[in-house]
Amino acid sequence: MMQTGRVHSRHPTTIAQVVESGLCIGCGLCEALAPERWAMTYTPEGRLRPAARSSDPEAGLEILAACPGAVARAHSEDTPCDDMIWGRYHRMERTWAADADIRFRAASGGLLTALGVHLLRTGRAKFILHCEADPEAPMRTRWCISDTVDQVIARAGSRYGPSDTLAGLQVAVDRNEPFAVIAKPCDAGAVRSRAKNDADLARNLVCILVMVCGGASDLGKSQALLDDYGVAESDVTLFRYRGYGNPGATRVEVKDGRAWQCTYGDLWADEAGWRIQSRCKICPDANGEAADIAAADTWPGANPVGEDAGFNGIITRTECGEALFEEAVSAGLLVRGEAIAPREFDDLQPHQVRKKRALAARLRGILEAGSPIYAHEGLRIDELDGRDADQQDASRARVVAGRFSETLPTLKG
Ligand SMILES: Cc1cc2nc3c(=O)[nH]c(=O)nc-3n(C[C@H](O)[C@H](O)[C@H](O)COP(=O)(O)OP(=O)(O)OC[C@H]3O[C@@H](n4cnc5c(N)ncnc54)[C@H](O)[C@@H]3O)c2cc1C
Ligand code: SF4
Ligand code: SF4
Repeated sequence: MMQTGRVHSRHPTTIAQVVESGLCIGCGLCEALAPERWAMTYTPEGRLRPAARSSDPEAGLEILAACPGAVARAHSEDTPCDDMIWGRYHRMERTWAADADIRFRAASGGLLTALGVHLLRTGRAKFILHCEADPEAPMRTRWCISDTVDQVIARAGSRYGPSDTLAGLQVAVDRNEPFAVIAKPCDAGAVRSRAKNDADLARNLVCILVMVCGGASDLGKSQALLDDYGVAESDVTLFRYRGYGNPGATRVEVKDGRAWQCTYGDLWADEAGWRIQSRCKICPDANGEAADIAAADTWPGANPVGEDAGFNGIITRTECGEALFEEAVSAGLLVRGEAIAPREFDDLQPHQVRKKRALAARLRGILEAGSPIYAHEGLRIDELDGRDADQQDASRARVVAGRFSETLPTLKG
């Protein structure tokens, strides 16, 4: 067995180790739970990571108990359906927002935005914690709280760069009002785990809604597009990754009124330039098994062949998620389409199926190279083990070559 010089325990025991071993996804939970010790910052590679503020940055056990770099868990509720790839669920089917404007603006069919609207209109949630383009730097994403229907609608759309939505979690909890979270699957796992140790969060958390997630690029992916257009980031007034159609164009506008856009197909044509973060390459739950509802695209082979009116695949994962979907349909916010069988969902998300089957081998490769992995529970990683020696070797080689290694940022000044 090949070893690097550093030999770790199987799972990270400090936040520094999470970051240095490439297991951090920059969710922002560190900053939310211990702002006196951690502040989210961009690294030179364009990743959001916690930077240490204090001389004792490691008093972080309560963070590690929920950190997606240290632990990943599926929800544990019983469900009528269970699938080896897709996990526990109540329903898989096509759906879309009934409101034409939401459907048009949103990333896919507007499912997540329509659910947010429903939660606010009915008063079941007083606000939504999610994310938006930073108004001061629209290529970047920042966490936000939407108190109104108009705010949720204005913030529709997928943001493909780094996003630290959970940096706003404590602000949300401190409001002591019922709220919902719209975020990535890794964020959902962190919120669910955190709720086990935070009674105020558990009491006020109405539901967690996520997108099925193929991975978050570092900011270099977005910067490369600006470089192609010869645009300085300081001039950008709009950076929309998709939406305004399905998938809609990626559009950049600048202060002097000029605009550029490219198709979704062009944006993702060259896989070598995706700059997907390390944690995403070994993501144990990209399909939202810790959430109440997961929303997906529905293109065969995951490839859009042109623009369409906007459709989502929905996976309801808990009784709460199932009831919420039924209510939103009855209230006229969502339209129901046909059911999607699990093997059809495989065809819509082939990359997720490949990753799920490759994970056990990838994790073995990392451990062989002497680097830690997250703990996982209820995600069937070992059961799906394809024992792919190539994946294992490639993963070990990545770690040995230092491609999972990162530097813990420090705050300047
Ligand atoms: C990084 C990333 C990878 C994705 N990979 C896949 C994939 O592999 N397969 C697939 O089927 N779909 C994928 N999607 C999901 C797809 O793009 C749509 O987001 C999803 O279908 C929901 O569509 P919607 O119309 O319901 O969303 P909308 O109604 O447009 O709502 C989107 C909501 O998500 C929030 N949000 C947007 N970006 C982020 C982010 N980066 N982090 C946290 N919250 C965010 C917004 O604040 C908004 O509330 C991905 C999305 C992202 C952001
Ligand atoms: S994944 Fe989140 S909680 Fe874990 S180290 Fe990174 S920012 Fe902190
Ligand atoms: S692929 Fe997994 S780790 Fe990466 S952003 Fe998506 S849910 Fe988070």
